[in-house]
Amino acid sequence: MLERAFAGGVDQLISIGSGYGIAGNAAAVRMAESDPRIFAAVGVHPHEASELDDPSRERIRGWLSHERVVALGECGLDYHYMNAPRETQRTVFAEQIGLARELDMPVSIHVRGDDPNAYDELLDIWIAEGKGDLEGVLHCYTGTLEFAKRAMNEGFMVSFSGIVTFKGSQELRDVARGIPLDRLMVETDAPFLAPQGHRGKRNEPLWVSVVGEILAELHDCPVDVLAEKTSNNTRRLFRLPS
Ligand SMILES: [Zn+2]
Repeated sequence: MLERAFAGGVDQLISIGSGYGIAGNAAAVRMAESDPRIFAAVGVHPHEASELDDPSRERIRGWLSHERVVALGECGLDYHYMNAPRETQRTVFAEQIGLARELDMPVSIHVRGDDPNAYDELLDIWIAEGKGDLEGVLHCYTGTLEFAKRAMNEGFMVSFSGIVTFKGSQELRDVARGIPLDRLMVETDAPFLAPQGHRGKRNEPLWVSVVGEILAELHDCPVDVLAEKTSNNTRRLFRLPS
């Protein structure tokens, strides 16, 4: 899968460690150690917020100080699946924003909730704990343009996944059209959300180009320009070598 990605024009990739139980972060760090083109993000996903305890806090700090770990994340609030109580999600998210600030690291944010409060509460915590010092990305964005604008004012980039390519995602395409090129990022969110043309399969990094092609069309710009802009945005935010 990695060979296909590198052969297909993916120069660098970030493996997200969170979301598989806190101990699962170790796998992303190992992957980043295996190849200079791979980096890792480490954090506590809202789904696993109830797992956080003192030993796992220590492990997270250790991973975040690893030279191949470029971001804290995914962290955030998920009021859709509600795998952890809201109060726990908020506390654990706030703690991680404080940690990102202390360690001066960019943050990858997961936010989801049919209840729009997930978004408002997330931004409130970001502002209160980040104190204007942090930058981050709203990963796999599916919210409104209005919220994205508020978030961009608070230091956020906005990243789109395969969802923006789905036939039924016209509303989200309208949102993506409204995000300026200097704030736009692309991702796969692999192994989830394989883009149109590959739906139902395990998603993989190679197919990030399908997301980029749609965004280029929406912004009425050549694909290579979109690719260069979004790659530069990603390198800048995560401080990757060029
Ligand atoms: Zn996510």
